[in-house]
Amino acid sequence: MANRIVETLGQYLSGHPRLAGVVARLLIPVEKVVKIPIFDCRMCGQCILHSTGMTCPMTCPKNLRNGPCGGVRLNNHCEVKPEMVCIWYNAYHRSQRLFWPEEIYDVQPPVDRQLKGGSSWVNYLIGRDQIVSGCNSEPRTALAVVPEDE
Ligand code: SF4
Repeated sequence: MANRIVETLGQYLSGHPRLAGVVARLLIPVEKVVKIPIFDCRMCGQCILHSTGMTCPMTCPKNLRNGPCGGVRLNNHCEVKPEMVCIWYNAYHRSQRLFWPEEIYDVQPPVDRQLKGGSSWVNYLIGRDQIVSGCNSEPRTALAVVPEDE
């Protein structure tokens, strides 16, 4: 039921890009207020928290989105920031405590810098977060279809 509502809403917004842009503008402050304090969100506009045990992959110094690099230290800390535990170590263990542990294995598209600062919720609804920039002629973000002066 919920999936169907999300799907219908996404289809509607995809067909009405101007409205999608307006909704995105309204949701960006909400996302900032909710996700920055709770998840240390970096507003990448392409959220995969659901698949990473609610651990933000953008807090990885290398912004890796499909698991750790080869430099994880023996104490599970980051090679770039030795004082910090590898976010993928946390992501894996946290994901296994959720009701959808298999999602950690989903292959994620590469991070798309053009989505930064946008609404990940709207980008998810319209499927924009699964498209790699340069591979299609669709609007790059929901915001891109509404000029700044409108
Ligand atoms: S994945 Fe992106 S949108 Fe999600 S919490 Fe991290 S920076 Fe924010």
